[in-house]
Amino acid sequence: MQQFYAERVDGTWIDFAAGPPVARPVDVTWIHGSPAAEHNTDPDIQVFAYDPHTVILRQNKAIDYEAPFLFLLFGNSGAVLIDTGATASAEYFPLRETVDALIRRWLQAHPRSEYGLLVLHTHPHGDHVAGDGQFAGRAGTVVVDAAWATTSEYFGFGAAPDAIARIDLGGRVLECLSTPGHHEAAVTFYDPHTGFLLTGDTVYPGRLYVSDWPAFTRSIEKLIAFCETRPVTYVLGCHIEMTRRPGVDYPIRTTYQPDEPALQMTVDQLRDVRAAIDSIGDRPGRHPLADFVICREPDDAEGSAAGRP
Ligand SMILES: [Zn+2]
Ligand SMILES: [Zn+2]
Repeated sequence: MQQFYAERVDGTWIDFAAGPPVARPVDVTWIHGSPAAEHNTDPDIQVFAYDPHTVILRQNKAIDYEAPFLFLLFGNSGAVLIDTGATASAEYFPLRETVDALIRRWLQAHPRSEYGLLVLHTHPHGDHVAGDGQFAGRAGTVVVDAAWATTSEYFGFGAAPDAIARIDLGGRVLECLSTPGHHEAAVTFYDPHTGFLLTGDTVYPGRLYVSDWPAFTRSIEKLIAFCETRPVTYVLGCHIEMTRRPGVDYPIRTTYQPDEPALQMTVDQLRDVRAAIDSIGDRPGRHPLADFVICREPDDAEGSAAGRP
């Protein structure tokens, strides 16, 4: 298990493992762009406190059409930020400032003399790592590069691809799974406190670009089997690209999505993806389902996912 700043906590200990997770309402209207990007009045980064120790952030579509979701989870001895968004510039995308303010506020409610920040990623695509540089030099901070060369060692997936890696934030122990298919270095995170399964771009309500079909199949099966042994409240990916009309997605680069479905998904929807894998078989291309569009890249598209969001 990776201990993250778990040596000693000199504040009130929060029991993150007190009982099974309860599905709270995801009571939020996500910012979803505007008809004219230059007249967008949304915040650069939307902040939604799901519970006192769990924050979901969304990047503004006028800054980058990908509008990825990011996750900030607080433990007793440190917080983890999962993904850093699609924009490097702190001026256009003030992620560091936003995260610093959230940590300051959390520490006011839960004082500790030392508190760390760990930055991890769902996968190395540019719209999930662009803000990494904003955390360079931040005290008490570890940024784990998203590339396979780093994560294979950090999580131990190079030696044990089917192992569950554990990251202890101080009584809040994330479980991490290697889930290649969209990207070889994709990681899925399970948080036992909220019951969230954070699936990155592997599964989300949008276009699931699959560069390695056999690996994707195994990863979906691995996730379904994992969810049968854990209480999962919500499956949360990193984008929304569907409309509320079954099988209809917004075109790529859309910057106004007034008819988005919810971000949160269910384990049953993972089973829908698994069933679709069989019906798609070896046919490359675009395969719309009710809640997803599976985009199977040709088998010879070695490395073609590098430019994918
Ligand atoms: Zn993405
Ligand atoms: Zn991606």
